[in-house]
Amino acid sequence: MIAILFGPPGSGKGTQAGYASRQFGIPHVSTGNILREEVGRGTAVGRKVAPILERGELVPDELILEIVANRIEEHREEGALLDGFPRTVAQAKGLSEMLAQHGLSVSVVVTFDVPEDKLIERILHRGEVDHRSDDNRESFAVRMEEYRHKTSPVLDYFSQSGVQVVHVDGNDEIEHVANAMCTVLSRMQAGPAKVGEA
Ligand code: AMP
Repeated sequence: MIAILFGPPGSGKGTQAGYASRQFGIPHVSTGNILREEVGRGTAVGRKVAPILERGELVPDELILEIVANRIEEHREEGALLDGFPRTVAQAKGLSEMLAQHGLSVSVVVTFDVPEDKLIERILHRGEVDHRSDDNRESFAVRMEEYRHKTSPVLDYFSQSGVQVVHVDGNDEIEHVANAMCTVLSRMQAGPAKVGEA
C-alpha cells in the first residue's frame, strides 16, 4: 500500500502517519523529517534547505524527488505512508512515474480537513513545545500560501488520475481522526470491494 496523507500545515499528517505506521507496520516517510535531519546533521543538502524551511517555502521539486526515489526503492516491498509529499503537481507526476517503474501506484489519498484558525493555534502550540523554527506566524502564513497555490491542486491531479481521495475530519480528537483514517486504510489493504460485497 502506498498511501498519501495530505493536508495543510498543522492538519495532523505527521501524528496520524506515525499512528498508522505502527498500526499497519508500513514505513512512515516524512519529507519534512528527512529534511530536518539533513539540517540537524549539517550536510550539504541541509545547509542548502535550512533557510528555505525557515521561511516556510517549498524546497525544489528535483531535490525532493531524488530523496523520495531512494526511499521508495528501499520500501518497495513494504509500501509507504507518505507524509508531506507530494506537495506540487510536478512531484505528484514524478511519484506516479517512479511507482509505475516498479509496477506500483498510489493506493489512496487521505486528506485531513481542519479550519485555518485551528491550524494556526496548533502550529503556535507546537512551536512552543518542539521549537521548530518554522512554527511561527510569519512562516505559517507563507506555508499556507504555498499550500493553497502549489499543494492543493495535487488533490485534483490524483482525482483526475482515478486515485481515490478521501476527506477525513481532522478537527476532532486525535483518536477519532485515527479511527476514521484506519477505516479507510484497512479498506484499501483488503483490496477494492468486489461486486456483491457489503
Ligand atoms: P513538514 O514537516 O511536512 O511540515 O515540512 C516542513 C518543511 O519542509 C516545508 O515547509 C518545506 O519547506 C519542506 N518540505 C517538506 N516536504 C516538502 C516537499 N514535498 N516539497 C517541498 N518542500 C518540502
